[in-house]
Amino acid sequence: MSKYWNELTASLVPYVPGEQPKDQQYIKLNTNENPYPPSPKVLEAIRNATNADLRLYPDPNCDQLREALAGYYRLSKEQAFVGNGSDEILAFAFQAFFSASKTILFPDITYTFYPVYADLYGLNYETIPTDDEFNIDAERFCVPNGGIIIPNPNAPTARFMVVDQLKIILDANPDQVVIVDEAYIDFGGESVVSWVKEYPNLLVVQTLSKSRSLAGLRVGMAFGHPDLIEGLNRVKNSFNSYTLDRLALAGAVAAIKDQSYFEETNRKVIATRERTSEELKRLGFRVIESKANFVFISHERLPASEIFSTLKRRGILVRYFNKPRINEYLRVSIGTDEEMDALVSALTEIVQPS
Ligand code: PMP
Repeated sequence: MSKYWNELTASLVPYVPGEQPKDQQYIKLNTNENPYPPSPKVLEAIRNATNADLRLYPDPNCDQLREALAGYYRLSKEQAFVGNGSDEILAFAFQAFFSASKTILFPDITYTFYPVYADLYGLNYETIPTDDEFNIDAERFCVPNGGIIIPNPNAPTARFMVVDQLKIILDANPDQVVIVDEAYIDFGGESVVSWVKEYPNLLVVQTLSKSRSLAGLRVGMAFGHPDLIEGLNRVKNSFNSYTLDRLALAGAVAAIKDQSYFEETNRKVIATRERTSEELKRLGFRVIESKANFVFISHERLPASEIFSTLKRRGILVRYFNKPRINEYLRVSIGTDEEMDALVSALTEIVQPS
């Protein structure tokens, strides 16, 4: 607290990102990063962009990247937006489409950043509880509101909502923007990006951080009706026109174009997730069905906080949320097969001490 802060700053409760520890080498399964490196073509493109042109500002319209994304999803460039990570795009969307006089809706449990943005922009929000299996009930979003945000798959639960349910929400809310946050969509979920041609109220937000192994490059994208994209551009250009730098743009275009590398790493992550889930169940864990690159687990006997601490002492970092309803769960990112084998053998010793 400082006397120089304004009232808003003093009232903010910021998001706390997962640890990026520097004290020792951990098996790092706490922030849903991809265990595989980015495509070699991405690294080559970034190396090639590391030249004297860095003295020049980047393209504020990010045309080349938006064209690559539009080609990938069979949309027009006017239906695509890019930003410095999907977190930045979500922040722009909250500012562009939601109003202080109306209440926005999102699930409880969900991505912790949504209430943070709402507080930052002075927006009211109401949370709609999931059921005990963490399913989201679409009907409960069919009430008067000022906008909706649904992550699909959800975080940190990994639960995927069948897209027919999203249709119910979109049809019931033609006058509100419905944001579908598809950060984890490439790990077995079904994207609704193509629906932006039918639904002028739909904004789909995605990221290169997870399925393209580029969390460090900070590139996110959004798809929607050109009017929604124009709204995002207005906010962006009133904030910082150059949110993506030249290296990020070059790397992102290469990532989108290397489809076969993307498919191969995703296949590996999904196979490892399925195998690990079965092993965790055998150790007495409840594993919420996952369509993401992480699993949400709780043990029948041992408290999650205790498992978290013991794993950390053994050099394995997972995510523990000390929050109501989920404080018996751990979120575990899917690593390489070797990393998951190390996790399973550590957990075997923790839950079945000899
Ligand atoms: N949405 C969800 C649901 C997430 O879990 C994350 C990652 N923490 C993001 C968006 C943001 O991802 P990024 O800013 O790296 O694109």
